[in-house]
Order: sequence, then C-alpha cells, then structure tokens
Amino acid sequence: MNKIENNVLIIGSGPAGYTAAIYAARANLQPHLVSGLEPGGQLTITTDVENYPGFGDVIQGPWLMEEMKKQALNVGTIFHNDIVTSVNFDNNPFISITESGKEFISKSIIIATGAQARWLNIDSENKFKGFGISACATCDGFFFKDQKVIVVGGGNSAVEEALYLTKFASKVILVHRRDSLRAEKILQDRLFKNEKIELLWDSKVIEFVGKENPQTLKQVIIENTKNGKQSKIDIDGAFIAIGHDPATSLFKGKVDMDNENYIITKNDSTETSIKGVFAAGDVKDKIYRQAVTAAGMGCMAALEAEKFISESN
Ligand code: NAP
Repeated sequence: MNKIENNVLIIGSGPAGYTAAIYAARANLQPHLVSGLEPGGQLTITTDVENYPGFGDVIQGPWLMEEMKKQALNVGTIFHNDIVTSVNFDNNPFISITESGKEFISKSIIIATGAQARWLNIDSENKFKGFGISACATCDGFFFKDQKVIVVGGGNSAVEEALYLTKFASKVILVHRRDSLRAEKILQDRLFKNEKIELLWDSKVIEFVGKENPQTLKQVIIENTKNGKQSKIDIDGAFIAIGHDPATSLFKGKVDMDNENYIITKNDSTETSIKGVFAAGDVKDKIYRQAVTAAGMGCMAALEAEKFISESN
C-alpha cells in the first residue's frame, strides 16, 4: 500500500474542498485533496451561475470549478483523482484508505464531500432512471428537444431546471406537492412568465409508465394530494429536483451527525466531534447550501486545521 503522511487531507472537490485546499496550501501545509465520485461537485452539473461574487457577467458552473481547481493546484495542492473508501478517526494521525489503495496518514482532515440528489424512490422510477428520468437537466436536457417533460419539486433547483429545460423542450410541466413554491421570488417570477411552463399544484407522482425494449418513458400517473384524483399525462422525460442528501455514509459512527445525517460542527466553527477533523460545505449545512457559503466554510476549515496542527506540534 502506498502510504502518504500529510498535514491535511481534504476529502471532496466542490467549492468547500477547493477553497480549503487554496488556504491550506498557502499556509504551507502541502494539503492532499481526494476528489471523490463527482470531481468539482454539484456546480459541474449546473449551467448559469450569477450569484457567485466577483463576476460581472453570468458564468458557467463547470468553468468556475475548473478555475477553483487550477487555483488550488497552482498554490501547491496535491490532487488525487480517487475515492476514499474508509476512514479511521480513533487516533491521531488519522488513517484514510482510497479505492486505488493509497493510505493517507493525516494530522488533520477536512470533510467536504457535499450532498447528492434525492430521488422519489418509487419502483417505476428505478426502471426508467437514465431512460427518460434524470436528476440533472444540465446533463440531460439536450436529449429532450421539442419534447414534453415534467419537473418534480418546488424549490430553487426545480424552478431552475424547469426554466433551463424550456431551451430544449416544447413543454415543461412543474409538478409540485403543495400549492406554493419554496423557490426564491425572482425565480418564481421567471417561471410564471414563461409560456412553455405549466404548473400542476398539489400533485405527486404515483407511477412512471413506459415501454420495455428499448426502455422508453411514455406517461406519468399523478395524484392530486387534496382530492386523491389520479390522472395520466403523456411525457417524454421527467426530471426529479426534490433536494439533496449529505454524502456522509463514510463517516457514520465516526463523527457526530444530526437525524438527517448532516455532520454537526461547533458554533461558528467547522470543528466536528473529533478534534482535528473539520467539516465544510453542504455536508454540514442544510440551511444556506450555496457555493459561496461552502467556499467560506472551506476557508474556515483550513484556518482551523492550521491552528490545530500548530498547537499540536
Ligand atoms: P429544496 O429547497 O429542499 O426543495 C426541495 C423541493 O422538493 C421542495 O419544494 C419540496 O417540497 C420538494 N420535495 C421534497 N421531497 C419531495 C418528495 N419526496 N416528493 C415530492 N416533492 C418533494 O431543494 P433544492 O431546490 O434542491 O435547493 C436546495 C438548496 O440549494 C436551497 O437552499 C436552495 O436555495 C439552494 N439552491 C440555490 C440556487 C441558486 O441560488 N441559484 C439554485 C439551486 C438550489 P416542499 O416545498 O413541499 O417541501
């Protein structure tokens, strides 16, 4: 096994991970960063970003993440395109093993593994996942040119996905389980003004229906949550945009988490229940969940790791 002794191991490569890397590298800690399953994180599956400060014009999510990576590398981060498969926080230094067989022996750890898309978890959804059902309009919207699609959800993601899909689809139906949206007002205004978008309030998906060989999504069965009435709608695609779950299964039982599996950190700090292990970004934040707040927490984690290491020496 390839053993790597280091000051700081950063697990995850979203805005939190890259910012932690930039700060740790500039503090001369020679950080190692393991990128994980989705290098660049959730912003790599977004298009327009207009709320990350510092850019007068609209920028693209994947481009922003590439720039963050470049910046982290340029200041001295050691990058590993790998996946951490187990961690042991029982004693310091901490041990982390990766899929490719590396063993990191680290004085401190920054967990920045982010969050991943939530699914409806109905049987027929699994049948058509990747065959008409997607959780990423940016990735798959292009395949639905001049077709009819639904988007499920009522938050910012659902509204952004619905708006984005109007670039391709002939019609987009937003299916939401309540009679008001959770999305920001500015997004709601854009949604209501868009003639390609229809709203189905108080509605939930009961079943996806389609053909086998090749698997093709054809219809969705919707139930009205108020009167129980069911209806069938012909569709070509469905986008599920109902939120995210933190990517914390690797750390279960190793650091304290809340009942939704978000890592708990001390007030005004990224310190977890284990001294020397820090958590930043969506993995510990279910309130703000923004690239800029994740980046801010990445910075905090690196500064706290630096302080921890200098006080332990
Ligand atoms: P979210 O705000 O948690 O919204 C999830 C939506 O899905 C809610 O409308 C919820 O309904 C619905 N939902 C949840 N579980 C469901 C189920 N099983 N069946 C049907 N519907 C279900 O998630 P999000 O939209 O992904 O946003 C997450 C965070 O990222 C938010 O803080 C958001 O502001 C942020 N974000 C920001 C931007 C931006 O600033 N440009 C873009 C995307 C996301 P209820 O409303 O009834 O609970």
